[in-house]
Amino acid sequence: MSNLLSYISERTRVINQERAQFLGGDLLLNEDEYKVDKLITKLKVEELELSYKDSTQFLPKQHFFKSKNEIVNSKIFKILKKLPKGHSLHTHSLAAVSIDFIITNITYMDNIYGKYIDDIFKMKFMKPENAKNEGWISLKEMREKDKDFDKWLKTQLSLVVVNPEESYPSIESVWTKFKKTFNCVYDMLSYKPAFEVYYSQCLKELYDDNIMYGEFRGTAMPLYDLQGTIYQDEDFFKLMLNVEQKFKETHNDFYGARFIYSIYRGVSFEDLRKDLKEILELQQKFPKLIVGLDFIGFEEEGHSLLHFYPELIGVEKDLHFFFHAGETNWFGHTDMNLVDAVLLKSKRIGHGFALSRHPVVMDLLSKEDIAIELCPISNQVLLLNDDPRNHSVITLLAKGFPVVVCSDDPAVWDASGLSFDWYVTFMAMTPKNCGLKFLKQLALNSIKYSALNEDETKAMDIWTKLWNKFISDMLLHIE
Ligand SMILES: [Zn+2]
Repeated sequence: MSNLLSYISERTRVINQERAQFLGGDLLLNEDEYKVDKLITKLKVEELELSYKDSTQFLPKQHFFKSKNEIVNSKIFKILKKLPKGHSLHTHSLAAVSIDFIITNITYMDNIYGKYIDDIFKMKFMKPENAKNEGWISLKEMREKDKDFDKWLKTQLSLVVVNPEESYPSIESVWTKFKKTFNCVYDMLSYKPAFEVYYSQCLKELYDDNIMYGEFRGTAMPLYDLQGTIYQDEDFFKLMLNVEQKFKETHNDFYGARFIYSIYRGVSFEDLRKDLKEILELQQKFPKLIVGLDFIGFEEEGHSLLHFYPELIGVEKDLHFFFHAGETNWFGHTDMNLVDAVLLKSKRIGHGFALSRHPVVMDLLSKEDIAIELCPISNQVLLLNDDPRNHSVITLLAKGFPVVVCSDDPAVWDASGLSFDWYVTFMAMTPKNCGLKFLKQLALNSIKYSALNEDETKAMDIWTKLWNKFISDMLLHIE
């Protein structure tokens, strides 16, 4: 008997130690939070129990295109939608607004035309006479001819298909289509009045998902109007600030947005030099908006961070790095970007999917307090990992590494906000009994590791107020 007792006490010690180490494990909850934690954990376990009996029911394992409509009915998902999630730190600006909004609002604006260019359906706003001369056809006309036009348009703007496994047999094929969706919207969204509507909706979709601040990765777009004016990069950022200002007037709790300037990783040295000079000048003019630099595109293509090293030295004084790195399944190959991201003092790492293969990099990451931007749905749709229960970042969560949950390109998989990624992370990547401590830590991390300065404490005050309200609202359900 005494043997059993000592065995159980040793076993409990191990379990408690692991529990404390897991992300958020050492947070202390107050009495009210503890009650909410009990409810959330109960609902989580109920949902998991169904899957334990029949694993095909486990929604995060199903492809997101199939599970999305069921996820929205989950009680946990509904709570996560209401939960103040803090900040959204990794979303590409051209894939941030839900496709349905774009179709119903932007593609129904006057003077929009479409045409195939190099196998890609492009849309653009033009004067009718110019459109006719250049062989563009109005979307209005296309709609009259084809009653399913909007349905078809959705397939051009997103990756969504009935059978993703058949349509995208490889990572290369999914990335080919993925890149096309950006080409498809680029000219349309560069139309100044369209971008204004689009960006305001960007902020609204965050706000509606209880996120009060966002960081967008993108490039300054050459805005144009029907009169043929092509605007300067400065005008693009001015417009962003104006839209944000206007949005905040009617959405008091919204803190704001920042921009991480992103350069295509296939860029030549010559263009990179030019781009960096321009970005640094823009950053001087918009220091509160432009907060960092990143390289984007399929990591298996283009150049490595090591390749860019000579050009990047000294830049980080003015412009922090927020590099995508290790968004790969390869080992000793593309994942080596992780070594450079950490040595170049990237403030956060986009994806870091291959990190668990690099123990020394992991140690450095911990020492430098660099956060990992986990985007589980992106990783599934873009074929890095089909079952998030096997996601490599679980190892990092288990060791309490600073992880933030992000959405990457939600529009392209017909999602919006962060709740879907929070749901997948919570249900598939945390232990059964892990509840509110983890969720609270995710929100706190998203604030701590954002690009805001330490003196911008107002963002934390806003979140705290919303968090307390969330807890008291939840208690109403319990009592
Ligand atoms: Zn990304």
